[in-house]
Amino acid sequence: MSELQEVKVPDIGDYADVPVIELFVKVGDTIAVDDAIVTLESDKATMDVPSEVAGVVKEVKVALGDRVAEGSVLIVVEAAGAAVRGKEVLASGKPEAAAPAPITHHPSPISAAAYGGGSDIECDMLVLGAGPGGYSAAFRAADLGLKTVIVERYATFGGVCLNVGCIPSKALLHVAAVMDEAQHMGTAGIRFAKPTVDIDALRKHKAGVVGKLTGGLAGMAKGRKVDMVRGYGHFLDPNHVEVEVTTGDGQDKTGEKKVIRFKQCIIAAGSAAVHLPFIPKDPRIVDSTGALELRQLPAKMLVIGGGIIGLEMATVYSSLGTRIDVVEMMDVLMAGPDRDAVKVWEKQNAHRFDKIMLKTKTTAVEAKDDGLYVSFEGDGAPAEPVKYNMILQSAGRAPNGKKVGADKAGVIVTDRGFIPVDAQMRTNVPHIFAIGDVVGQPMLAHKAVHEAHVAAEVAAGEKSAFDATVIPGVAYTHPEVAWVGYTEAQAKLEGKKVETAKFPWAASGRAIANGADYGFTKLIFDAETHRVIGGTIVGPSAGDMIGEVCLAIEMGADAVDIGKTIHPHPTLGETVGMAAEVAHGSCTDVPPARKK
Ligand code: FAD
Repeated sequence: MSELQEVKVPDIGDYADVPVIELFVKVGDTIAVDDAIVTLESDKATMDVPSEVAGVVKEVKVALGDRVAEGSVLIVVEAAGAAVRGKEVLASGKPEAAAPAPITHHPSPISAAAYGGGSDIECDMLVLGAGPGGYSAAFRAADLGLKTVIVERYATFGGVCLNVGCIPSKALLHVAAVMDEAQHMGTAGIRFAKPTVDIDALRKHKAGVVGKLTGGLAGMAKGRKVDMVRGYGHFLDPNHVEVEVTTGDGQDKTGEKKVIRFKQCIIAAGSAAVHLPFIPKDPRIVDSTGALELRQLPAKMLVIGGGIIGLEMATVYSSLGTRIDVVEMMDVLMAGPDRDAVKVWEKQNAHRFDKIMLKTKTTAVEAKDDGLYVSFEGDGAPAEPVKYNMILQSAGRAPNGKKVGADKAGVIVTDRGFIPVDAQMRTNVPHIFAIGDVVGQPMLAHKAVHEAHVAAEVAAGEKSAFDATVIPGVAYTHPEVAWVGYTEAQAKLEGKKVETAKFPWAASGRAIANGADYGFTKLIFDAETHRVIGGTIVGPSAGDMIGEVCLAIEMGADAVDIGKTIHPHPTLGETVGMAAEVAHGSCTDVPPARKK
């Protein structure tokens, strides 16, 4: 069944009488849902108006320079069947779905390419990249009824996080924690022999953990009828991606190419480790992916970069017997959480490090047969080059935005490689979304997943937006350091008046029993509203506990809400409730507050 449908200007905020500055269609054109019809220009921004209807353009009701407002008819389309964004066309011919949100974006200086060839595959939604962002977006889109294809250059789902990031690192950190814990049991009268490390078996264990998860995702994709096209994808124009098919465990190209035509797309291309340009190629010099391969257990390793990834890997290698030096350009390790928490971590980890060189740069690396000779410059620099058996480069990660041919689709990419998006995760090209590491900091899997759901929901015609108040951060070191929302340092920087309440784990029965009485839980409250706006926890399982503080912030809880919530005893989790009681003045597990 085909019928005539009008495409009108949707709600464009407070603007009326806005000129049409570009007209993308003419009578006879075949258009897809979300194809741009016109560009409107207000005094603040330009907006592309996408079509809600797919079909053949029968009438164009506006010309360049015409002034329009909400409800103005732009074109009349002969639409076929259910070719309306996200919903069936009802008998009246009106789509049931809400009008698409207007896309307000900065003027695009990029003119997209126009691909004139055919396609091998057609879909409603193409997701580029199968990391936590990509697979979550693809699965959500499929669950909402969109025919979805996911393009991934590697053989497995899961991207960096599952294959070479969050999960393998945590598998190894768990092993390291058990080894460390077993040694500490000596103080409780239980002595284990010094552990021996079978590195091949350990590697196999890690691969088993990863395989369980990535295999599970492949099954879930099948269940949802999400097709994976294996290969390296890049845009040909705003509606086509070419995939250079890959094979094997890596990215080996077969020479075969496939073209996919899509109505909408989500770019989830992630990020890659930064490699310092002066560092030579040598198998003893690795990034986090190489470190997770556990090719060797070196006697002495240099970690370049004192951020979370570097310190997590330092924890693993140190527990397995490697001596560690860290070099960091800034004046602190683990920038992010409050210093009182990092101090606790530093005290507990001092034994792992021979040297921590702050405000120091690596200036040269010479690879010799007997070792890697590293020169330094700065406050902590040794006078002579230092010899290492292995170097881990963990000097940050860079987004992959410049590697997908985004310009051919007209998508803006910043100089650093990030793709700017709005709250609905749309790029400047309205039917192309971007999510995860490629759109900005913090580069964390849980942020990518939430953005993924928003993008898929918006693409399916739902009203959704990314409006998280806070995104937590966790260093899965021993002990863990977890923080969310305001830190004391951030509040000070902004001149924001806050109240801070700290519960020392020395007063927690469970923490003492677990040998973790060095930890603490700190909550930060807005001094005016008394609502919780931040929290920091240091100690074992801090990452598991910070979720409660996230929920409290999102729900606008105050100290009474948290403190009067009955937490189970004896747990480390009850320290969150205790910290709230400290704020409230009702905690009976700490000495009495001094009378003011
Ligand atoms: P990615 O996971 O990077 O996935 C992008 C995918 O796109 C990749 O599979 C890539 O192959 C594919 N791709 C890219 N370009 C193309 C193309 N042109 N064609 C086809 N495929 C393409 N985060 C946490 O939240 N918690 C942690 O504990 C944690 N630990 C980490 C530990 C390490 C060692 C590392 C390196 C990272 C860690 N992260 C952690 C960060 C986390 O891995 C990332 O934030 C997350 O993976 C980002 O997800 P994403 O979907 O945006 O991108």
